[in-house]
Amino acid sequence: MPASSDIRQQYIDYFRDKHKHTFVPSSPVVPHDDPTLLFTNAGMNQFKDAFLGTGTSGGRDYTRAVNTQKCIRAGGKHNDLEDVGKDTYHHTFFEMLGNWSFGDYFKREAIAWAWDLLTNVWGLDKSRLHATVFAGDEREDLDRDEEAAALWKSETDIDHANIHLGDKKDNFWEMGDTGPCGPCSEIHIDLTPDKTGGPLVNKDDPRVIEIWNLVFIQYNRNAAGLLTPLPQKHVDTGMGFERLCAVLQGKSSNYDTDVFTPIFKAISDVTGAPAYGSKMDDPVDMAHRVIADHIRCLTFALTDGALPSNEGRGYVLRRILRRAFRHGRQTLDQREPFLYKLVPAVVDTMREAFPELAKNPQHVADVIKDEEQSFARTIDRGIALFEDAAQRGGDRIRADDAFMLYDTYGFPLDLTQVMAEERGLAVDVKGFNKLMEEARTRSRAGSAGGTDARQSLIEIVQQQKLPATIFTGYDRTRDTVTT
Ligand code: ATP
Ligand code: MG
Ligand code: MG
Ligand code: MG
Repeated sequence: MPASSDIRQQYIDYFRDKHKHTFVPSSPVVPHDDPTLLFTNAGMNQFKDAFLGTGTSGGRDYTRAVNTQKCIRAGGKHNDLEDVGKDTYHHTFFEMLGNWSFGDYFKREAIAWAWDLLTNVWGLDKSRLHATVFAGDEREDLDRDEEAAALWKSETDIDHANIHLGDKKDNFWEMGDTGPCGPCSEIHIDLTPDKTGGPLVNKDDPRVIEIWNLVFIQYNRNAAGLLTPLPQKHVDTGMGFERLCAVLQGKSSNYDTDVFTPIFKAISDVTGAPAYGSKMDDPVDMAHRVIADHIRCLTFALTDGALPSNEGRGYVLRRILRRAFRHGRQTLDQREPFLYKLVPAVVDTMREAFPELAKNPQHVADVIKDEEQSFARTIDRGIALFEDAAQRGGDRIRADDAFMLYDTYGFPLDLTQVMAEERGLAVDVKGFNKLMEEARTRSRAGSAGGTDARQSLIEIVQQQKLPATIFTGYDRTRDTVTT
């Protein structure tokens, strides 16, 4: 069974050594220089200018690149947070392997090399691989990608029955409302025992999973929405590293690979929890998955300079940390901070590929411990209030209860929602948002007004224990640039 570290290296070596790509290190997962983006969510983020520019590769001295990019999809257009723990293949933090052409090779090579790597180098069973091709979209006057469809047939020996047409949602990539865009071809793997998964491609079924997306950037969309062919065509690919490891290690879940097993072991060592047992509906296994995912995300984000806070990026991290801590508290019976003790396991597993992790792990652990300590002060009373709220609310958690949990006990709305969902309850989100808006208005009146208004804000804060920084998470977490 190939180790994950070897798989990563084989990918890089294949494109670097065999096809003359330049290895470009991952950019930080926190895009400090890109205010339009909450977190780096795809390998292409750091190459945006190369696609936008008119030069071949935005002033770079190479036209072919390969890397593994640290990505977080926990907010903005790409938000996979709700899937974590519940499925086997979406993480908040993951690595995206990618190869790029900036005005260099195009569809023929991208398809041929992807196929060669998967089937010849790694020996994947060809009859389990499926490819999708953009079907075109009449309403938007977008053509079918006949070129890619023909190349799958001429450049590979894929079973023609395994080539599927896909719609704009899955098979057309746009950076934003305007700018470079184009059709894509995805590669999916059918893990059903009898290889009958064809109809399940792109149906969110854990037995048929998208592993690689090959994007062919060939148009520019102008402000009026019109497409014109680009003078320079580009390739942008992205493959989920953890999914690839699962496939090559013969596992049906990313969590059963050596990417996660050392972290599960650390969770058991630190908390005394039973070993991870791979069951989807077991609460302890669920806690393992959520905690392992979230500690990876936190360790990478804090290493790259993010900090938990009450808004934007920082609030996404605070929410993630509180979700993980709540699992530890309720499912694994942890009374003291424990997440910070898992940082060394993440660092040890990943430092070879990402040496920056080893720079200051103590700082990362300290920040996490501080956050845990502050939530530990209110979590038990919050859980008790939640229990009462669940009793009195009927089929839902009332808005005033959700708000009280938020502003007095530090329960982000999405944490209350997760807990409610576990009980089959809804949350009155509309009512909650109204209370939030009222709190914001009060705080604005307070900060804009004179002494009286300020005095009344102090009273509000004292009576309701509003957080010092008013929550702005939800309207700040929308990024515009996507993959
Ligand atoms: P999916 O349809 O499975 O959500 P996607 O179409 O959103 O994936 P892309 O934006 O095409 O994903 O990203 C390229 C590749 O990155 C995917 O083919 C997949 O292998 C991987 N990937 C995407 N999201 C995640 C995630 N949350 N966790 C792990 N891997 C992911
Ligand atoms: Mg997705
Ligand atoms: Mg997809
Ligand atoms: Mg995709």
